[in-house]
Amino acid sequence: MKLDMFMCIIFLAIMSSLGFVCFDILKLIIFVYLLFVGVRGLRYKLNIRIKKSKVFCTAFVLLFFMTFLTGFTYKNPKKPIPVLTYHRVNDEVYDAKVPTVSVKQFEKQMKYLKKRGYQTITEKELLDYYSGRKIKLPKKPILITFDDGWRDNYENAYPILKKYGFTATIFLATGKIGEDEYLTWDMVKEMYLNGIAFGGHTRNHINLSKVDLDTAEKEIKWSFEDIEKNLGVKPLSFCYPYGGGDLNKSIQHIVKKSGFQIAFASYNYGINMGNVNIMAVRRILMPRFNKLHKLEMFLLLW
Ligand SMILES: [Zn+2]
Repeated sequence: MKLDMFMCIIFLAIMSSLGFVCFDILKLIIFVYLLFVGVRGLRYKLNIRIKKSKVFCTAFVLLFFMTFLTGFTYKNPKKPIPVLTYHRVNDEVYDAKVPTVSVKQFEKQMKYLKKRGYQTITEKELLDYYSGRKIKLPKKPILITFDDGWRDNYENAYPILKKYGFTATIFLATGKIGEDEYLTWDMVKEMYLNGIAFGGHTRNHINLSKVDLDTAEKEIKWSFEDIEKNLGVKPLSFCYPYGGGDLNKSIQHIVKKSGFQIAFASYNYGINMGNVNIMAVRRILMPRFNKLHKLEMFLLLW
């Protein structure tokens, strides 16, 4: 295969994947510009001769391809809503198994979102929006979530959220509430009265795909009932504790049957692009673990 042909294919692959996360015309223009710079740079660097007509031809094909992809996004009436996943916000504890951001990092990220014009929405707003109900969302909506119910969410994250006028949803492994390092029901109540939402996350933080369906159903229902009993309201949302394997169709069905109206994935990364499965909403894990996610985050939040 000729080198220039190979180069075209590589560019086509890169630009088409960027096309998927390219939401507005400004980004489109920048990508097209980068494409031209890239082609030109490679020509000189590799000292290869490519006919100008070939460059234009490739650029035209790419532009067509990207317009198709972004146009596809545009035609979709649903705008993408990023959902961020946090666990612990803590300076003293570091547990490799639980994603932790420092208090300073968390504050920096919230400040960044505020500066960029992001406004937090509630899980109810996200549900209404993707269910097709008429609802007016802010220009740049974002949903912030926390998994498990760590005490540092109250001690460290909550004051910062308040400072920036942000809200969030916390998913509780309800059997752990009141234990060391976890929230107490009093903390949950206080935050709830100040606009923080709470969702289920099973009672004992089990992997739902590793137990039989009866046990899975019990665990899901228990978390619903524990929240209802202690908070006096029915929870709206659920989050799969090991959301890669345990969000299969039967588990999703049980979650729905147990009274939850919306469910969030744990390892189902990415941006919600329109046709959202309301029982497996995508989230972006914070902190980010690999470069691809960093790129996606950059494109999403710039
Ligand atoms: Zn969890």
